[in-house]
Amino acid sequence: MLRVNDIHKTYEESPLLEGTSFIVNTDETVCLLGPSGSGKSTLLRIIAGLEQAESGAVLWDEKDLRSVPAYQRNFGLMFQDYALFPHRTVAQNVAFGLRMQKLPTAEVRTRTNQALETIDMLNFAQRRVTDLSGGEQQRVALARALAPNPRLLMLDEPLGALDRALREQLSRELRRILHSTRIPAIYVTHDQDEAFAIADRLLILHNGHIIQSGTPEELYNHPNSLWVARFFGLGNLLEGSVTSHNPLTLQTPLGPFQVACQSDPPPLGKKLTLLLRPSAARICTPEQDMPNMISGVVQDAVFQGESYRLRISCRAGVELSLNVAHNTAVGSQLNLHFPPKTILCLT
Ligand code: ADP
Ligand code: MG
Repeated sequence: MLRVNDIHKTYEESPLLEGTSFIVNTDETVCLLGPSGSGKSTLLRIIAGLEQAESGAVLWDEKDLRSVPAYQRNFGLMFQDYALFPHRTVAQNVAFGLRMQKLPTAEVRTRTNQALETIDMLNFAQRRVTDLSGGEQQRVALARALAPNPRLLMLDEPLGALDRALREQLSRELRRILHSTRIPAIYVTHDQDEAFAIADRLLILHNGHIIQSGTPEELYNHPNSLWVARFFGLGNLLEGSVTSHNPLTLQTPLGPFQVACQSDPPPLGKKLTLLLRPSAARICTPEQDMPNMISGVVQDAVFQGESYRLRISCRAGVELSLNVAHNTAVGSQLNLHFPPKTILCLT
């Protein structure tokens, strides 16, 4: 098990990592997600032993790795720019790490073939890597990282340079390979879809801290902050301030909103942001007496296969996105309500 404990790292007097802590369990693939510049690559380099932190520790099975140099940590690395040796064959590239370990020739060959089999490229062994597509080169880079049988694999935006369709296909394949090899992995990406496809657990890095961790479902359904909700592109976000408890009610530009009571109700006057999910809206009639009723005029409607995405304009210039089952004509008036238990309060 890997334990990253309270890492601090500063570049040119601006703090980047400010007490970053997390663990990676045996068999687990975690995705480290965060915006560009949040310190993801720096964190991987510190774990790999390629960079020093000012304080904090990296532990493997509770043993501090401070005195273990990078090449003795037995961590595999794979980067976006695959850094394959262009004039060598696929097999020679995959064998590189094994030769560095000075293994006997027969064992190098066996393990190279095993790694190529894992990525389903055994019959490419004698090709030059320059004759391969970008996706194939990335699979070779993965085989090269896997061949020495690392106890941890770290992948830094490995699919970032590929087009969308290939990224989807390769992310499914990566997940299968990571699970079948049972090597714990840290997968860095800024792409949410890729993270959802690969991860057993997500770690969100922001302002030098892991601000939330959990399964993709947990984070998507229960973002613990406004920042995480925005990072996932969740809408609609509506500001309000607490006007009463029991039921917890907030005044917003769209009128009062009731939300399901939280364990620790916020104080009166507290400003919060409500998350009104596009698919949580229920169509109703203006005569009905329900909490959180709003009305709006449909501005546009986009067919999305399973549903329609509507944009409606409401009072006070507020626009909301909705997912509804049936198409609704542009210009028509809609009456809706948001059940209190579907609304999250975020700070
Ligand atoms: P990410 O991988 O999340 O995009 P990085 O870890 O690459 O983030 O870098 C985060 C920030 O740290 C960069 O924007 C840069 O300002 C700074 N940084 C990274 N490496 C160095 C370095 N070697 N020297 C100075 N500043 C650096
Ligand atoms: Mg990076």
